Amino acid sequence: MQDGKGRKINYIRVSLTDRCNLRCVYCMPEGGIDKKEHHEIIRHEDVLKILKASAFLGISKVRFTGGEPLIVKDIDKLIYETSKINGIEDIAITTNGILLNSMAGELKKAGLKRVNISLDSLKEDKFRKITRGGSIHDVFHAIEKCIDLGIKPVKINTVLIKGINDDEINDLIRLTKDYPVHVRFIELMPMGEGLNYYDTGFISSEQVLEQQKELVPLNNNMSSTASLFMLPNSKGTVGFISPLSCKFCSSCNRIRLTSTGTIKPCLHSDTEYDLKKHMDSEIGLISELKEIIYNKPAEHTLENDGKSSSKREMFEIGG
Ligand code: SAM
Repeated sequence: MQDGKGRKINYIRVSLTDRCNLRCVYCMPEGGIDKKEHHEIIRHEDVLKILKASAFLGISKVRFTGGEPLIVKDIDKLIYETSKINGIEDIAITTNGILLNSMAGELKKAGLKRVNISLDSLKEDKFRKITRGGSIHDVFHAIEKCIDLGIKPVKINTVLIKGINDDEINDLIRLTKDYPVHVRFIELMPMGEGLNYYDTGFISSEQVLEQQKELVPLNNNMSSTASLFMLPNSKGTVGFISPLSCKFCSSCNRIRLTSTGTIKPCLHSDTEYDLKKHMDSEIGLISELKEIIYNKPAEHTLENDGKSSSKREMFEIGG
């Protein structure tokens, strides 16, 4: 359906948990997070009810995220059940890739179409420091496994932070020469732990692009989520996701479901709607979702004061 600003909303991101098996320095507090009670976390059967209602309203793309979605019990079954919902055409996950190598085959069988793997460094030591303990080999194996399985596209998401991983931009771009992967550089957003790095570490997509004379543009639509480029004769592409320097709110097509069962119609707004009270009525759920979509905010205001108005941190929303 269209929202009140005429945007077609066809995409829902579902955060299944706020827990993660990594502690990336700009995302998760070192000491971990306050554990939510079991009953506070949305059950799979309720996720499926919400997805069914969303599909009825024209949502055809679902992305499972977190926290880390692959630590969630029975995610393969959830993906399978989602794939059976009428109208759902595309199921993706955003993952840190640590557990993906051993799970990718089952997830693909269950109906997974696409993966985004977060990878902020190609260097073993630095990767361990950024993630506070992760093994980069697990992520490399996962990327290779997904390519072997024919999962397309395999996207690699890199949040660039000055002084931390901006020395690896060329190496990350060069990955697309030999591998059919889509490397996407994401601007650091001023949220949660990210605020500790934002003032000194923010790099705009434009600053990166100025240094990349070899990249050939593939799209000119600056309002699309990612501006796309490629190196000549390469197997993959390079994208820039610029929520701050080139915001794409006018073409935003998504809503988000948090792991506690609220809908966030805008990542950076503090407005949330609790769907738990509508779980017993399919019609109630559909009409609530319809209202929420219609009233989706026109745009975020991050660029005004450099702060997100979201009451939640990234690990609770899933990006
Ligand atoms: N655990 C999964 C993963 O690592 O991909 C999914 C959840 S994680 C919160 C989703 C994405 O959000 C990751 O790519 C992460 O790098 C990104 N992210 C976290 N905090 C961010 C911030 N302040 N600005 C931009 N991206 C951020």
